[in-house]
Amino acid sequence: MISKDTFILIYSDLDGTLLDHHSYAFDAAKSALERLKQANIPVILNTSKTAAEVLKLRDAMHLDTPFITENGAAVYIPTHTFPTQPEGAIRDGDFDVLSLASPRSHWIEVIEQLKPQFGQMFQGFNDMSLTEISEATGLSEQDALLASQRLYGEPLLWKGSIAQRDEFIERTRALGACPLLGGRFLHICGDTNKGYALKRLTDEYTAQFGLAQTMTIALGDGNNDIAMLEAADIGVRILSPVNAPPTLSAQNTVITSTHYGPAGWQESIDKLIPFQHTTTTQGNELHG
Ligand SMILES: [Mg+2]
Repeated sequence: MISKDTFILIYSDLDGTLLDHHSYAFDAAKSALERLKQANIPVILNTSKTAAEVLKLRDAMHLDTPFITENGAAVYIPTHTFPTQPEGAIRDGDFDVLSLASPRSHWIEVIEQLKPQFGQMFQGFNDMSLTEISEATGLSEQDALLASQRLYGEPLLWKGSIAQRDEFIERTRALGACPLLGGRFLHICGDTNKGYALKRLTDEYTAQFGLAQTMTIALGDGNNDIAMLEAADIGVRILSPVNAPPTLSAQNTVITSTHYGPAGWQESIDKLIPFQHTTTTQGNELHG
């Protein structure tokens, strides 16, 4: 049973978690999202997507909460969220942005240094046209435009051999990168993770509102969610139709949904946050 003095924060992955793996729909989770919004329990999107992509989705979800982009690289906090601007944040329009990683320009410079030896073996977003990015990602040109607006890393389409790629990865590591090998792209970026960003933002809530007790719930379906699922008080593994649930080693509470994607999301929220807990608005006194 959750004490009524506990301030709950929910962190969620998008693809395969709050969004259906195949259709990208989130209809099955809509009533849970609405219930959490009524109760002032923040749902914080925590994704590998860019800010441009998240902005479009959070509008559709009617969310006005902070969100975390590019695998923990940045935290976007609407300026109305906290009484004062978080330390280290940079104002960008309606957001205070906490950057937790080196900017994309840094990683493009790192890649440039390796071009004399490896330049024929890859193509980066920076050197690709929108049409080429659209073809490589399978996205419409409109969505490719949003996906291409990465601010903290550079995706490369690898054209060389696996051995050459592994050598390239080692060279970027020596230059300070923490490359991520995705399904389609090799991402050259810094040492970020969704778990560190979760902790940073939760600490901000605690400090800004003087919270005595918080409870964080994180929901994710893949290996890039492990750090987030382990950093939360409760990790929720959302069942995926295409991969096994990630293996966790931390000692926090972990549950696994029985439904896929957004249906599993709603199922887990309903199980963890009883309806009576959301009949009052949490933190009312904080926002008055
Ligand atoms: Mg996912």
